[in-house]
Formats: sequence, structure tokens, C-alpha cells
Amino acid sequence: MTTTTTSTDPLPDDFGHAFIRGVHESVGGAAEALGDLDRRAGDGDFGTNVRTALKLAAQNIETEQPATYRQWVTTMYMGWLGVGGTSGPLFGMFFRDLAKAADGAEGESARVRAADGAGSPSLAQFAEALAAGQATVQKYGEADVGDKTMVDALDPAVSALRSAVEAGSSPSEALAAAEKAAVDAARATAETAAKRGRASYVGEVAKGVIDPGAAAIALVIGAARAAADGGDVDTAWIS
Ligand code: ADP
Ligand code: MG
Repeated sequence: MTTTTTSTDPLPDDFGHAFIRGVHESVGGAAEALGDLDRRAGDGDFGTNVRTALKLAAQNIETEQPATYRQWVTTMYMGWLGVGGTSGPLFGMFFRDLAKAADGAEGESARVRAADGAGSPSLAQFAEALAAGQATVQKYGEADVGDKTMVDALDPAVSALRSAVEAGSSPSEALAAAEKAAVDAARATAETAAKRGRASYVGEVAKGVIDPGAAAIALVIGAARAAADGGDVDTAWIS
């Protein structure tokens, strides 16, 4: 696929819609497998939390009729904020930071402008929103890289995306690099024991099991990549 988009041009008008549709398809499609990971290495509620969040998010789409990027991502963050566990608030605040991607430094006025059109962020703005999401998750969850949480997938994805933006890569190339970094890191969480969340209670038993939150983050970034290149998100590695 060829594209002339640079990192400071807005992503396509339908990016928010395609991204959130991809999150529903990939994370929703993997809910059973994600729940299974949490049953093996945690307390087993993650699959239910994922399904509840996506159900609420789908209801928000019905009632809100989102049109802009911010509105599409807002349906998702509001869905997660309606869920319990540790992951509900953390994914909720993460998506809230992503929703703000196109607001820019000008705050309210940019937000109003964005509401006039599709208001898609640029690739560079999306990368910084992902970084803000990581910072928020770490601020409230207090997990470091290596604690076997979603942070393990977020951190290398943010680095890969920023490097690709820096290098002038196209959105699909840049997001593919971020997706690969997140998938590789999520898979590598199988080698570590959890230090945060309920999975930490089972300690060594969690070894050999991928962290479900890290896997979910990899799917979310995969959904952003798929929104840029029109492809599918691979979920077969989650087991
Ligand atoms: P709980 O751990 O409360 O049962 P869930 O099962 O809903 O929460 O979600 C589990 C996922 O949440 C984990 O796989 C992990 O990625 C993420 N998680 C748990 N605690 C934290 C934390 N303190 N910081 C970041 N992520 C966390
Ligand atoms: Mg759990």
C-alpha cells in the first residue's frame, strides 16, 4: 500500500471508527483466550471484564452515534470505566488519553475544531497519546516494566512508534513496528512472574503464561495498525 501521509498529517477521516471497530473484533474475539490466561495466572475475571467493557462500549455507540475520532474512542473509554477489577479503570484511563490525541496543545479550541470534522489525530499525535496513556497507567497502577502487566507491552510499543515517527515512516509501517514490539513483549511476559495485580498472588505459577493485559494492549495496537492498512489483527498467538 502506498501513502503520502506524513507523521504530522491527520490520519484518515475513518481512522477512529476503523480503530474502535478493530478493538471490538480483535479484543472481543480473543476474550475467551484472554480470560483463560487470567484463569491460569490470575483470578480469572479478565475475560468477563473484557466482555462487559465491550458490551458497554457497543451500547455507547448505539446511544452516542459517534462521528469524530474523539467520540469513537470515548465510547471505548467509557465502556472500560464501567468495569471493575484493576483493568477496568486502567484501560479506561488509557483509552481516555488516546481519545485526547487530536486535542493538541491548544486544548479546548482544538477540541471544538476537531468536533467540526472527523478530527483524526496525526500519527505523531497518536504516538504521544499512547505515551500519555502509558504514563497514566503507570501513575495509577504503579507497575514498572517487567512486572508482567500491560505496561510490558505498552513501553516497547511507545518506543517503536516514536522511533518510526522520528524516522518518517508511513502510518501503516510505524504502527506495524509498534504492533510487532507489543506482540513480542506480550509473548515474552510468559517468562516472568507477576509483581502487580491479582496474578502476583500466584507468583511462580504464572510462569509460562502470557499476561492477558499485555496481550490485550498488543491487540489494541494491532487494531490501530489494521485501521491504517486495512488488514486484519492476528490473535492466534494468544493461548
Ligand atoms: P485483576 O488483576 O484485578 O484481576 P483484571 O483481571 O481485570 O484485574 O486485569 C488483569 C490485567 O490487568 C493484568 O493482565 C495486567 O496486565 C493488568 N494489571 C493488573 N494490575 C496492574 C497494575 N498495577 N498496573 C498495570 N496493569 C495492571
Ligand atoms: Mg483478574
